[in-house]
Amino acid sequence: MVARDPARLTVLSGPSGVGKGTVVAEVRRRHPDVWVSVSVTTRRPRAGERDGQHYFFVDDADFDRLVAAEGLLEWAEYAGNRYGTPLAPLRARLATGEPALLEIELQGARQVRARDADAQLVFLAPPSWAALVSRLAGRGSEPPAVQERRLTLAQAELDAAGEFDVVVVNDDVARAADELVGLLTAPSPGLVPGE
Ligand code: ADP
Ligand code: 5GP
Repeated sequence: MVARDPARLTVLSGPSGVGKGTVVAEVRRRHPDVWVSVSVTTRRPRAGERDGQHYFFVDDADFDRLVAAEGLLEWAEYAGNRYGTPLAPLRARLATGEPALLEIELQGARQVRARDADAQLVFLAPPSWAALVSRLAGRGSEPPAVQERRLTLAQAELDAAGEFDVVVVNDDVARAADELVGLLTAPSPGLVPGE
């Protein structure tokens, strides 16, 4: 029998530009108590991004050290940069009995599933391919070549939606945020009496 964390971990994944950051920000605007893990990344900060708030921005050597020290729950290389979930703050949060949310890409979501069968995997899907393309371009944070690279990855990510427990369509930010809040606070199947 494997010891279980006392609270449930929810993973939100989905292609770049689908609106993960926007939906999570809306959830936190309404419910500031929702805890979202801050990832480590080797990517450069975008305009307006703050170290320790959006990400912990590190160099390659720091990231290597974190991996070697087993300080990350999961990590992945995505579009030329590395991203990972710091383990210690997540463990501390789950130990309080309160839910935690990770916003990570597909390879990381698969690693979480392999490590924690009770984790709830939520896929945020665009209402259409055209909407995804226009959102990524409209955000304007990446040059066209990087957008192309992210869209190529997005095709494979959309194909993997069936691996997730729930698919939430981000047709409307407020509606998608409502659905995500409901999922975050839903009891874990492992905790339902009689199961
Ligand atoms: P991700 O974090 O998944 O990469 P973002 O949250 O940065 O995506 O959103 C990408 C772009 O799409 C942003 O410009 C955002 O304002 C826009 N967006 C997000 N959700 C919606 C939505 N439901 N309808 C229209 N535009 C959206
Ligand atoms: P961005 O560069 O747009 O901030 O993020 C690129 C991708 O990396 C997004 O799909 C985002 O969800 C994902 N990501 C962010 N943090 C992590 C993390 O800690 N681990 C993994 N595996 N992916 C992450």
